[in-house]
Amino acid sequence: MANSHNPTADCIFCKIIAGELTSQTIAETDRVIAFRDINPQAPLHALIVPKRHYGDVAQVAGADPELLAEMVSLADEVASEHADGQFRFIFNSGPNAGQSVFHVHGHVLGGTKLGWNPA
Ligand code: C5P
Repeated sequence: MANSHNPTADCIFCKIIAGELTSQTIAETDRVIAFRDINPQAPLHALIVPKRHYGDVAQVAGADPELLAEMVSLADEVASEHADGQFRFIFNSGPNAGQSVFHVHGHVLGGTKLGWNPA
């Protein structure tokens, strides 16, 4: 995708990363940020977001698999610090899967016994 590695003017997560919009940040590394989802679906519901713009999880896996591993590590850290260390890590990829923000992010869900109803 053209310009997939550059922040885009209309990307809400690029604006959060740039500090132009507020978020409840709970963890951060040089390359990845974690902030609480504004519409939480579990006691712990955070988003793990690379600071560099990629559209979806397949793009980041193809371009920079180490970055994807860093995202998993930060998800584990967030679940340990803000829940009991157990977590679900979800990537919605494409509108039919529920993706609404097209800057890759993993949802970390935890802090309760989770059900399984993806529909
Ligand atoms: O997987 P999907 O793209 O639908 O997830 C986007 C998520 O980003 C939603 O859960 C939404 O609540 C969250 N969001 C947020 N802060 C914003 C905009 C969206 O936490 N400013």
